[in-house]
Formats: sequence, structure tokens, C-alpha cells
Amino acid sequence: MSKREFTIHCPVCQMTKIDRSLSLKYQGVDHYFCSSQCLERFKEHPHLFVGDPKHGLSPKQKGQAALKTRRIGFAEAVGDELKATLDQSLLSLMGVEALRFEGHCLYVSYDLFQVSLEEIEATIEQTAAKLHSGMLERVKRGFIHYSEECELDNLAHPGGDGSCHGGS
Ligand SMILES: [Zn+2]
Repeated sequence: MSKREFTIHCPVCQMTKIDRSLSLKYQGVDHYFCSSQCLERFKEHPHLFVGDPKHGLSPKQKGQAALKTRRIGFAEAVGDELKATLDQSLLSLMGVEALRFEGHCLYVSYDLFQVSLEEIEATIEQTAAKLHSGMLERVKRGFIHYSEECELDNLAHPGGDGSCHGGS
């Protein structure tokens, strides 16, 4: 008997290297993921990745992405040791595309479909905490997280009842 396998893509990042122990049944279909990060992302925003009869293809299935570049400030210039460690840990996150260091700042480019600034910051904090505790500045972060969640909701439910309205 020949063993046939068809290619399974991680619905979040489209990688074909999936981990069969990471699966989730959604709308009667089993989905498999490459990483627990992608699995969690899917759980939070399934409509981004899987379409339905009412709305058609999902934004991801239509090839959309939400590329962002954000500046993250540090309390002091980022040294070589921290740079190397951040490079390693951030680029291993799904959806992080590029990093650029400039003095006290890090510019990080990522696909909001796959990773949130919150996850990026949490990773930076873990990394920085190992080297120099308390060096990160925290400014207006709650607001950015909130607007990212709204943006994803709006993408997942275009023209929907709109649970997220711009503040007035
Ligand atoms: Zn994935």
C-alpha cells in the first residue's frame, strides 16, 4: 500500500511544515498548524483565515496581509549583545519580517495577521530581561494593542455590525 499525503498548509502562515499534534476543529474541519503561535492566532481570529458561505473567502485566502512597521524605543542604546539576541528571538516569531536598529530604537516590520505588537513586545521583554532588566520604556502601549484588535475585527467582518467604532 502506498502512503499518500496531500500537502497541508498552516492556515495562518501558509507554511507546509506543520506539527500534527497542533490541530483544531473549526466549522467541522480539522486544521493543522506549524506552531502554537499560529494556533493561538487562529483561535483568536478564525475569520481572518477561513472563509464561510456568507462572506466568501477570508482575507488571508484572498492573499491580504496587514504589514506594519513600528518603532519600539529603549531606554538606552541597544548594544551588540542585545541586538544579536533580539534578532534571534524576534525573527523566530511567525510573521516578523524585518528588524532594523537605530540607536535607542528598533523598527520592526511584521504581518499583523500573524503576530501582534503585544507578542513582539512580550518577546522583547523576555529577551531584554535576561540581559538588562527594566530597560524598556512603556508608552501608550494599551492603545496600540486595542487598535490592532479593532483592525483585525474589521478585516474579519467587513461591513459587519462593527463592534469597534473609532473613538469620539
Ligand atoms: Zn503557521
